[in-house]
Amino acid sequence: MIGPSATQRRLLAPAAPHRARHHPTPLGRRSSASQRVWLFDLDNTLHDCSKAIFDAIDHNMTQAVIEALDVDMGEAHRLRVRYWRLYGATVIGMVRHHGVDAAAFLERSHRFDPAPLVHSETGLAEKLRALKGRKILLTNAPMQYARQVLKTLGILQQFESLWSIDHMILQGRIKPKPSSALMKQVLARVGQPASNVVLVEDTLKNLKAARKLGMKTVHVFHPGTPFSGLHAGRSAYVDVRVNSIGRLLTGRHALRD
Ligand SMILES: [Mg+2]
Repeated sequence: MIGPSATQRRLLAPAAPHRARHHPTPLGRRSSASQRVWLFDLDNTLHDCSKAIFDAIDHNMTQAVIEALDVDMGEAHRLRVRYWRLYGATVIGMVRHHGVDAAAFLERSHRFDPAPLVHSETGLAEKLRALKGRKILLTNAPMQYARQVLKTLGILQQFESLWSIDHMILQGRIKPKPSSALMKQVLARVGQPASNVVLVEDTLKNLKAARKLGMKTVHVFHPGTPFSGLHAGRSAYVDVRVNSIGRLLTGRHALRD
């Protein structure tokens, strides 16, 4: 007996399950709200990135610099802060000036269990589920850390995909947020016009870059975010300003279609 051809096998094969499993909204609904794509930042947006987490990352990253460059702690601390100020991410300076392997450096920098340190607003999973549309994570943190935090928050399954700094290497260079090259790539992958895409973030410069490409913007105000205190009011490139994810669901804080 002759078996099915390669084409037939492809047609007969069950559809890849991951999309449906992770898709939070029924695909049959076609309102503009259900087409909306939410790009969520992680730290100080979906969870309160406590001082304990920042301290753990700082400590591990300084250790990573010590081990990569064989320098003392004082010099490692100085370089870590310098590259963070210069490039927005220490890893970029480490790759550019010292040729270290980005993935290995990031793995070493985040080699701790964030689970006991994660805090968020109450009922986050239910609130997120009530928000209609596709949800995608867009974080400058490494994948393993991001997955651990989302898992701890009980919301990992609500995201159809996760973008972490591991995916932000364009033409051999790390391009984290607010890189417009990165955001264009994300938009192309999302397959929706920018006006259907909303970036939810605590960092204003990332929102500014998103708005330049035509996305909608939600500023999650967090007092712990650097420079957030400089803007007492809402910036021109911010559509909605909230202090929790739950506020996105209610009254005047809801984003208009
Ligand atoms: Mg953030």
